[in-house]
Amino acid sequence: MKLRPHHILDIVTGYGQGVEYKPHPYGHSQHIVAKAILSDVDIKIKLVAGADAVCQGCKHLLPDGQCVDVLHQLDPPVSKQEYNDTLDYRLLDYLNINHDTVMTIREYLKSVNRKVPGIERICTHPKRDQKERLNGLTKGLINLGIRSDS
Ligand code: SF4
Repeated sequence: MKLRPHHILDIVTGYGQGVEYKPHPYGHSQHIVAKAILSDVDIKIKLVAGADAVCQGCKHLLPDGQCVDVLHQLDPPVSKQEYNDTLDYRLLDYLNINHDTVMTIREYLKSVNRKVPGIERICTHPKRDQKERLNGLTKGLINLGIRSDS
């Protein structure tokens, strides 16, 4: 399964915040991916900076893999494709992991855990609170058995 690094962090953060993953109006597959990776952290994934398993079925996904959604909360608005690609390359660089690396969710989250706290400064979405990101991610890592304390 191909996954964007930040999509995994979004899912684990939501898990730590008690989010119940359900089908989204966009039609994307976050709820399916969340169920798969949260129930088996030994699942193998390929870390990509491009359309991934979460994007499957999304109304904003073009057949060529480009995302046409726009982040209107930024001024000026920014293409989500551009925002996501920049974020994922930055995140991989911060974690010292190469693009297209295949590893398990557990291995990826262990690398993430070594950067907690700190990673929330790289990967908190626009207009969102870094502390909330950090708390949710930390709790999610604990719930998954990757981290033993807060
Ligand atoms: S990145 Fe774009 S295509 Fe993928 S789920 Fe989000 S809005 Fe949809």
